[in-house]
Amino acid sequence: MRYQRIPIPEDQGGVRAADFEEILHAYTKEEAILEAQRCLQCAMPFCVQECPITQDCRGYISLIGQGKFDEAALLTIQDNPLATVLCKTCYHYCEEDCVMGGKGTPIAIRHLKRAALEFGNGQIMYVPSAPKNQRIAVVGGGPAGIMAAWELCLRGYSVTIYEAQPFMGGQVDTIPKYHLTGDELDWDLGRLRNLDLTFVTGKKAGVDFTPESLLRDGYLAVYVAIGASEPRLLGIPGEHLPGVFAALPFLLAMNKGSEGLFGRKERQVVVVGGGDVALDAARSSLRLAKGGRVTVLYRRGKADMPAGEEEVSEGTEEGLHFVFQRAPVRILGAGQVEGIAVQATGVGPPDAKGRPTTVLLPGTEETIACDTVIVAAGEYGDITGLPAELDLKLSPQPWPEGKRPDWMTDVEGVFASGGKSVVYAMAAGTRTAGAIDAYVAKKTGRSPTPRPDPFARPIAPKLPDGYSGPTWHF
Ligand SMILES: Cc1cc2nc3c(=O)[nH]c(=O)nc-3n(C[C@H](O)[C@H](O)[C@H](O)COP(=O)(O)OP(=O)(O)OC[C@H]3O[C@@H](n4cnc5c(N)ncnc54)[C@H](O)[C@@H]3O)c2cc1C
Ligand code: SF4
Ligand code: SF4
Repeated sequence: MRYQRIPIPEDQGGVRAADFEEILHAYTKEEAILEAQRCLQCAMPFCVQECPITQDCRGYISLIGQGKFDEAALLTIQDNPLATVLCKTCYHYCEEDCVMGGKGTPIAIRHLKRAALEFGNGQIMYVPSAPKNQRIAVVGGGPAGIMAAWELCLRGYSVTIYEAQPFMGGQVDTIPKYHLTGDELDWDLGRLRNLDLTFVTGKKAGVDFTPESLLRDGYLAVYVAIGASEPRLLGIPGEHLPGVFAALPFLLAMNKGSEGLFGRKERQVVVVGGGDVALDAARSSLRLAKGGRVTVLYRRGKADMPAGEEEVSEGTEEGLHFVFQRAPVRILGAGQVEGIAVQATGVGPPDAKGRPTTVLLPGTEETIACDTVIVAAGEYGDITGLPAELDLKLSPQPWPEGKRPDWMTDVEGVFASGGKSVVYAMAAGTRTAGAIDAYVAKKTGRSPTPRPDPFARPIAPKLPDGYSGPTWHF
């Protein structure tokens, strides 16, 4: 029994901070097989239970352990139309409860998904079911919208996704290239080509159409999956000076080819925020700053940072500086950023969720010299121009969500949801697609359609010997 994971090949801190090359490298076939053979093939697979889309990871791990990479790839994409994106970006919730973690390190479930797709044939087209001749509109081409469209197309609906940006992918397009090279989404979307799915890009709800106008145009239901990508501002003086960027547009511009954003010269950068987006912006800045200094400014302590531990430790290895328990009060400069004034913070009374707030401590102001400030203070869903009747709930989630348990809004036939990560957004897309199918079925006097086999196979796919499929469904 090997309790420790086969190490995932990775570039070291100094090397990786030099450019945007991918940090993690794939296992070799032999390494993947050895790692998969550590799996105990638990009868009660907590890994599957913890995966928000119930990906049958136990199944693909078993197949990899037998060297059957084509079968492993097929099983992976059977549950997961964004498997290529997820094999590099998923926060691997499945690994948290892997029983091997109790004695050693959890099985590298996410990385094995990558091995399945690297070494097996994952480019197999999904097969549409008999057409229902019923149209559904999806607003927003991020993971939630794509997942719902896949679910609905497999059930025989004709689906159109309306996306405000000129490209599909949503926030996936802002994930830095050292995590995701940018080709993965195209690989995943390629598998959808035979489905009755239309992408309409550059069209924004609230400007070019409304969910109600789509219903009037003959769509039987509308799914609003517009996520949360409008940056929150700090609301402090100086925020509009040249040299101040909001994190999301900054990351998007960089991924779409603007690596010269910093003018290709040394920069002194302060990133405000302590979440994953702040760390992505800071680590990307480090790669652009040409030997400059990048400081992450966070108003609470290190232990309170919402960013994942991996991001913080990897960012530290790469050379990020951190300033904790300081909050920005002013951005300084005449015509260009010259510094940021900060004040020490103390613990204030608890907020509505019971989390202690922070208060500024008088007489503690100091200045950090810098020429660039990146604000990563959170995001929200932009519902400007969407009809008030939708009454989209924006709290506690930052993305619009219907109020009913099935996420229908106050307008009949219009649903809305999203998620805190790629795989959670996909899970929301799955559940909402199920609710839309149930709604349309009731309206048209038939039973809901379960998700059919995405490859329209007449018989169930061959599974590993003695294997009975995922035990947990929710
Ligand atoms: C920098 C960054 C890094 C991240 N890294 C990871 C990671 O490594 N792993 C992970 O799991 N998650 C990560 N996430 C989170 C993840 O990307 C999101 O949780 C996920 O994309 C949410 O999916 P969604 O479909 O709900 O919304 P989104 O991805 O936001 O997609 C919504 C889509 O709707 C479109 N839209 C918005 N308004 C309108 C409108 N009015 N009309 C038409 N279209 C509209 C938007 O343009 C967008 O394409 C990251 C997020 C960011 C910002
Ligand atoms: S999608 Fe994510 S949570 Fe699910 S099995 Fe893959 S890595 Fe784990
Ligand atoms: S919990 Fe871990 S050991 Fe058990 S089946 Fe899942 S991956 Fe294998």
